[in-house]
Amino acid sequence: MKRTAVQLLGALVLLGAAFGAAPRIQTTPAFDLVFRGGRVVDGTGSPWVRADVAVRGDAIALVAPRIDAQAARVVDATGLVITPGFIDIHTHARRGIFTVPTADNYTRQGVTTIFEGPDGSSPLPIRDFLARVEATRISPNFGTFVGQGSIREAVIGAVDRKATPAEMDRMREIVRQGMRDGAVGLSTGLFYVPGVFTPTDEVIELAKVAGTMGGIHVSHMRNEAAGVLDSVRETIAIGEQGGLPTQLTHHKIIGVRNWGLSAETLKLVLAARARGVDVTIDQYPYTASATSLSALFPAWALEGGRTDVVKRLRDVAARSTIKATVVENIRFDRGGGDPKNVRISSCAWDPSLAGRNLAEITLQRGLQPTIENAAETAMFIVENGGAQGIFHAIDERDLERILACPLTMIASDGEVPVFGQAVPHPRSYGTFARVLAVHVREKGLLTLEEAVLKMTSLPASRLGLQDRGILRAGMKADLALFDPARVRDKATFDQPHQYAEGFAMVVVNGQVIFEKDAMTTARPGRILYGPAFVK
Ligand SMILES: [Zn+2]
Repeated sequence: MKRTAVQLLGALVLLGAAFGAAPRIQTTPAFDLVFRGGRVVDGTGSPWVRADVAVRGDAIALVAPRIDAQAARVVDATGLVITPGFIDIHTHARRGIFTVPTADNYTRQGVTTIFEGPDGSSPLPIRDFLARVEATRISPNFGTFVGQGSIREAVIGAVDRKATPAEMDRMREIVRQGMRDGAVGLSTGLFYVPGVFTPTDEVIELAKVAGTMGGIHVSHMRNEAAGVLDSVRETIAIGEQGGLPTQLTHHKIIGVRNWGLSAETLKLVLAARARGVDVTIDQYPYTASATSLSALFPAWALEGGRTDVVKRLRDVAARSTIKATVVENIRFDRGGGDPKNVRISSCAWDPSLAGRNLAEITLQRGLQPTIENAAETAMFIVENGGAQGIFHAIDERDLERILACPLTMIASDGEVPVFGQAVPHPRSYGTFARVLAVHVREKGLLTLEEAVLKMTSLPASRLGLQDRGILRAGMKADLALFDPARVRDKATFDQPHQYAEGFAMVVVNGQVIFEKDAMTTARPGRILYGPAFVK
């Protein structure tokens, strides 16, 4: 066999290398990845610039008007926007991340970092949870809060009483340990059992522990309907007296009688900031919320465990008192005034209910779909094992007012759905793409730069992430590339299992995780530990 000149030269090079004197015929490329000709929206809110972006290893190496140096791979980004990867500060990703470690619903809309443990609910201990996520090898980066509700449940149970001094000490210690294990702060869900049984003072005591360790506080507030103003005051007080940054999470105004109150909640937030309280907001861009169907129940009826709840529902007097609140909540609160506005998203004991609303299920049970009968249906479902629901009870004008506020960042409150399973809230698939499509391109409520800031540097600075959220040399190479004219959410309430469109490529820690409409085999996601993490 005849050797070609190239093969001969290669052999010589190898020979030279073996003797430590290789002639450097071919230099290693200066960069691993270069994006040419894109519009860089850097996450700071600055106007876009046309620039090339070079990546070396897991970091951005250079951003410059033109980069001609050799690269292992050059991507033509003409017509595309390049931004830092999106950071989602409020997700329930543990629902699904172990089954779908690529978290396609998030990564396919440019999300490169997700945070768990919101609403006062987190696995404990945090260290074991994060180790399990790390061992799963996921595509996006991952971090977590430690949940006050989970802590209270472990120490006191799901009961309505004050903590004893000894229990306070134990709860403080679990917060401390959670922060050492890598949590970024303390979350509360004062609407839920057992958070709802927690006096504000008790939350403040735990917030102080998280705060002295560099953590923040985020709250699913006690009441997002008629009591929303007091709840905002409480969230601010936790930050002010706890001595730490505080955040109104998935801020919304529920119930037609309360619509418009966002004008007042934002005033409270601005006034608090003016006196030095570090308070911020996050939000998803939909006019429906999603949570357990038992959210229609009074809190006292949910005290204790499932057997207690069922016992109350089988007691005639208790049942009729519960029903009065469920009726009230369908009429004026989360139920949106009409049983049609409450739809089951998933139901373990009867999966056929997923996708149907309370009016339909009530009719199916042979009853007229009045609010009273729908309340009976809701109690019937909870009695038989419960369900997750979607509640249409938010006004677009409140949504837009909150979104336009410079203190508001974007967060999905979503999960990692198994594609095609159940009928989940579309926010899991569409939150970020929807803001870019609807609120930037169609309505012009935000500029592209403002929207990207809300998805990148704003959550990064809130979380104390020093090396992500801004597209600049030296930062980690988490990047999203998309076509600003085509980007859109496709997921709807009827057909939620649809990925966002318009994204060309997504990079995490310098590795391409998504391109050409498909996930790659790379799983470069890292655990992002909080400020008090002890290895
Ligand atoms: Zn929540």
